[in-house]
Amino acid sequence: MSTRTNPNIVVTGTPGTGKTTHLKDKECHEGWDDEFQSWIVDEDKLLDELEKEVADGGCILDWHACDLFPQRWIDLVVVLRTDSTTLYDRLTARNYPDAKLQENMDTEIMEVLLQEAKDSYDEEIVVELRSDETEEMDANVERIEAWVKQWKEDHKG
Ligand code: ADP
Ligand code: MN
Repeated sequence: MSTRTNPNIVVTGTPGTGKTTHLKDKECHEGWDDEFQSWIVDEDKLLDELEKEVADGGCILDWHACDLFPQRWIDLVVVLRTDSTTLYDRLTARNYPDAKLQENMDTEIMEVLLQEAKDSYDEEIVVELRSDETEEMDANVERIEAWVKQWKEDHKG
């Protein structure tokens, strides 16, 4: 059983869907970024480090995958989605090499992250949110804030 008093949230989605920007908006970003994507991540080590952090709750994990985080750690999984044309422009602006750009476009079109989230967690905790426009980002952040507030209400000792 979890003893945390704040929920842990995964924000996932294809690179370019706006994960980091959503968190920066609320200044709750602590430096994880897509740069990691190109590093070779020692998953065991990452999870060992994270375990201490998530124990108390209140963590927001920004990652381009979600199936590595144990189910018991996570209270909400937000999957950001972006329209292909918009995503193409965002990834082009990042100067992604063609192969990487195409791979990420396919990932988004085939809903890979959404499926991964549904396969890895209870479907009730998986929320798909649009991230094409700034207004949507604002609405998404508000929605997540409201969800956190409700979660805390529901988990009061
Ligand atoms: P990720 O962390 O998922 O790779 P980023 O947060 O780095 O994505 O966003 C990629 C680019 O797209 C940034 O330039 C960001 O400003 C822009 N962007 C992301 N989400 C939105 C949105 N909902 N509306 C407008 N621009 C967005
Ligand atoms: Mn990012």
